[in-house]
Amino acid sequence: MRFDVLTLFPEMFESPLSHSILRRAQESEAIKVVLSNIRDFATDTYSKVDDKPYGGGPGMVMKCQPVFDCYHNVVKQDATKGRVLMMSPQGRRFDQKFARELSKEKRLILIAGRYEGFDERIRIGLEAEQVSIGDYVLTGGELAAMVIIDSVTRLLDGVLGDAESNKDESFSEALLEYPQYTRPDEYCGMRVPDVLLSGDHGKIAEWRRQQSLERTKKWRPDLLENLEKQD
Ligand code: SAM
Repeated sequence: MRFDVLTLFPEMFESPLSHSILRRAQESEAIKVVLSNIRDFATDTYSKVDDKPYGGGPGMVMKCQPVFDCYHNVVKQDATKGRVLMMSPQGRRFDQKFARELSKEKRLILIAGRYEGFDERIRIGLEAEQVSIGDYVLTGGELAAMVIIDSVTRLLDGVLGDAESNKDESFSEALLEYPQYTRPDEYCGMRVPDVLLSGDHGKIAEWRRQQSLERTKKWRPDLLENLEKQD
């Protein structure tokens, strides 16, 4: 999958992309991440990418021209049509289902905002879908874009070492994952549940299912309510 990111701070992506699974995913060419600096497309003398809002009010708004020009430059780099996602607290809430949906795409074009956000004509003109990573306001869309790249990448075939890793984990079927333990079997007086040491795979599967249900009920009852609504 190809990710294009339009941002004023491409350097922010360097560290997350150069470690662990995301680094390996790029090395194996499961993903390609292309960063474009919106400021490179500013045409005025001071490379200005923002301006005062019409009608007054605090802060600055991202101007149309640098974003449009950056976008057109990105689009022509690859013939694959991309789904255009604009990072915004006003957007569709990002969750595991949305990540799964995006993992089916061949190309995602992510636009990260700054300041007070984008001139409205950018959303309209680029036919961008707005995506929010939660009901809070970040200083910029870079972290949101990284969250999307990370969570979508790990769903792509061959990216995670163990093919099972995606299957049981939290949200995979609207439940939180069961508790996990590793060696030693006792630490500071806390023992690993006997069933996990029993070698009885049927019992282990049953225990895990029960634990998943219990912790979802306790910590995220909203997930179960949503599941019931879908039935
Ligand atoms: N004034 C805007 C509003 O109230 O909708 C918020 C602007 S915010 C300070 C600057 C940029 O951060 C936004 O344009 C967006 O790209 C990004 N951003 C902030 N919160 C976000 C969130 N929850 N999800 C995704 N992107 C977010």
